[in-house]
Amino acid sequence: MYSPEIQKKAVDLFIELVKIDSLPFEEQEVFEYIQKYLEGKKVKMELQHYTDGENKGSNLLVFLEGTDKTKKSMFFDSHADTVTPGKNIKPIIVDNKYIRSSGDTILGADCKTSVAASLVVIDEVLEKNIPHGDLLFLFTSAEEIGLIGAKYVDTKLLKQYNYGYILDSGGDIGNICTVAPSLGIYDITITGAAAHAGKQAGGISAIKIAGELLNLLPQGHLSEKIVTNIGAISGGGTINIVADNVVINGEYRSNDAGETKKLLQTIDNAVATVLGNYKNTPVQITCVHAVQMEAYVLDNNDDIVTFAHKALNKLGVTPNNLTILGGTNCNIYMGKDINSVPISGGGRYFAHTLKEEVIIEEYPRVISLMLALINN
Ligand SMILES: [Zn+2]
Repeated sequence: MYSPEIQKKAVDLFIELVKIDSLPFEEQEVFEYIQKYLEGKKVKMELQHYTDGENKGSNLLVFLEGTDKTKKSMFFDSHADTVTPGKNIKPIIVDNKYIRSSGDTILGADCKTSVAASLVVIDEVLEKNIPHGDLLFLFTSAEEIGLIGAKYVDTKLLKQYNYGYILDSGGDIGNICTVAPSLGIYDITITGAAAHAGKQAGGISAIKIAGELLNLLPQGHLSEKIVTNIGAISGGGTINIVADNVVINGEYRSNDAGETKKLLQTIDNAVATVLGNYKNTPVQITCVHAVQMEAYVLDNNDDIVTFAHKALNKLGVTPNNLTILGGTNCNIYMGKDINSVPISGGGRYFAHTLKEEVIIEEYPRVISLMLALINN
């Protein structure tokens, strides 16, 4: 499907890219690398800056003007940032089969396989004069901390493209994420009453109340459609004072609005039950929830899905429509009615862990897939 030269080029570029640190909002050096790589080639580049709260971020847009208007126009999205621990990554090739980190950091395959593949695809299209519609290669920022960069890409611009493929799913190139969850967060604040630890007079421990509440709060997979996690607990002060404050932070990912409602009701009921144990005391418990990302559902017959199936079939790959429980930039785009879907970023596994790896033989197939989509 691809030549050994393509494989080597993709692997070399990938290895160079993961060696560049790029935590969220620190992608500048990756953007510079891409700009330098594409300098003098027949592309138009735009580094767009945005401000998100206290943070300044950028997205890099690389345009290739269509050479064949009968071809579909499309954009490919790869985020340039990685999760932690993602500094000083030392990629290692193992048995000529895998690329892994040295074990004390992530590898950064999420999403740098896609960044490197995009550069190879741009070269292939230009050097081999592959007929194409208008193309945009979008390198976004701060994806891993809430899909932030994607929120600042011009909606009108993205809507001009027939299809948007987000190169951010793990596993085999057949994967197409047609159903993705909503993501919500909740913060529970418990206020007890402080007192001297020795005397305890009037003291009501917020930590003890948190314990009672944690027993009632659902955690883990509640069904195939919903999963919830308490990720952080903070509170108290010093050990000689009865703690008067605790904050519990949780999230949920859900593909089903009914199940979401049920979970939020369970959380609210848990709060009410525990509060009931502290009638006529100063104890307060408040719970705030917020939706961070909306769910989307694509039909298996949607044009963008069948178009990808056609490209995969040409490559002899069986398409695999997936329901996922993670968010991608696609949640932002679909929320704005931008026709898009996540597909595999090319043979990468165990994202967000120290065991993250790329299967070298599998990886360049994403390049074949992108070219098949472009030339479909
Ligand atoms: Zn990713």
